[in-house]
Amino acid sequence: MKTRRDESCIRLSYAVIGLALTVGILVSGNISASGGAESPSETARMTSIIHWLGHDSFRIDGDGIVIYIDPYKIADGPKADLILITHDHKDHASPEDVAKIQQSETTIVAASAAAAKLSGQIQIMKPGDKLNIKGISIEAVPAYNTNKFRSPGVPFHPQESGYVGYILTVKGVRIYHAGDTDAIPEMKSVHCDVALLPVSGIYVMTAEEAATAAAMIHTRVVIPMHVGKGIGGLEDAERFKAISSVPVTILPIE
Ligand SMILES: [Zn+2]
Repeated sequence: MKTRRDESCIRLSYAVIGLALTVGILVSGNISASGGAESPSETARMTSIIHWLGHDSFRIDGDGIVIYIDPYKIADGPKADLILITHDHKDHASPEDVAKIQQSETTIVAASAAAAKLSGQIQIMKPGDKLNIKGISIEAVPAYNTNKFRSPGVPFHPQESGYVGYILTVKGVRIYHAGDTDAIPEMKSVHCDVALLPVSGIYVMTAEEAATAAAMIHTRVVIPMHVGKGIGGLEDAERFKAISSVPVTILPIE
């Protein structure tokens, strides 16, 4: 038979356990709110509008607007309202892939060398340019090599070629597509929610260099790219994920 003292002891124990749980929840909630790791649901919300089509190709689904970046070796998909092309190399500016998704009202935004390979409604952008097209704010930023050379002294992506990356805001998510680039000082002034960074090496950053870049960029999550279609493999993306100090999401190739 329980005494009154036993019962009050049990009630006190429950109160202590309840308090401990409450404090635990508050503390863990506070950690995720005060920087560091994003909650999985917030990361999922930001990346849910971004579809990786392999290599540097993405489709981004906005509110009533379909945007592609560097379509290459893609299957047929929803028609494009906006296509962004970073530079003229064939794995980025691919007329046959653009033809799969282009319609008469599609606007193409491209670095000038890439624009020459395409036709339709084309807006040329160079690093530093800003545009607002169909309600989407677009900023072109530099993309170039510092240590990847085609031949001595000749980079694959020379700074003077005017190749670009893009920062665009879709459904309130600020997305940075770096284009073909090494880790460059201009990345320090990039602020975004999601950064799409090349990790294959050879023509662009290695996984290790991309980890350095990720730490320079002000971003909440990084999606690795420039792998999965002949140049670089998913192992490069996994290696990048293992060493990056910034959270990494590897998207499935659609
Ligand atoms: Zn290239």
